Amino acid sequence: MPGSFKTEAIVLRSIRYGEADRVLHLYTAERGRVGAVAKGVRRVKSRLGGRLEPLSRVRLVLHQGRGELCTISQADTVQAHAGLRERRGSLERATQACEAVLRLLDSTEPNLPAYNLLCHELALLDSSADASRRAQALAFRLKLLLAAGFAPELASCASCGEAEHLGGFSPSAGGIVCVGCEAGSFPLGEEAHRYLVTALARPLAEAPEAPELALSQADRAIAETVEYHAHVRLRRVA
Ligand SMILES: [Zn+2]
Repeated sequence: MPGSFKTEAIVLRSIRYGEADRVLHLYTAERGRVGAVAKGVRRVKSRLGGRLEPLSRVRLVLHQGRGELCTISQADTVQAHAGLRERRGSLERATQACEAVLRLLDSTEPNLPAYNLLCHELALLDSSADASRRAQALAFRLKLLLAAGFAPELASCASCGEAEHLGGFSPSAGGIVCVGCEAGSFPLGEEAHRYLVTALARPLAEAPEAPELALSQADRAIAETVEYHAHVRLRRVA
């Protein structure tokens, strides 16, 4: 329906368009994924320009015309995340987080838990260099899977329900599996299992630590779950 609407959004990606415009991929609080044109923002005197950088959290007024893309008529900064832009590690993690949202959540259905999670992750990365740890980045990704409806089964064997003798992870079964059901699975050690369970249970800011091998197994479990069930490839979290 044509008309104007207000929403908060994170700028996921910005692409040059025409002579002075940009096309923005937005993740909004109220309408999920939205594509929008920001007209004239590459001109020096643009009133919107500096506010619409990728990774920024903004309050927008958008106009929905007949085309696929909305037009941005007003933008106010909620959080520019200037701190994370000064640290390469934090900037890379923030870009990865936006990339994961871009690939995993392409619907115009609102998903407030996913929106809030992304805002929270960017705020953490902005406030502390420590938030760019691999264990923290994986915790974000795991919680994003949960928000998107793809959380793996971690309590008991995803194939038969057995609660003991667990040791593998099967992307096709959708979670951890027992020795009897391990066909098509890869090894997932006790520490990786504990990491996944704890990371899901704790607040994002309190992501648990784990040895590198355990984090690599957790990373693989997350990435292959998304590949199998959402048909989306995510770059591994190194
Ligand atoms: Zn089983």
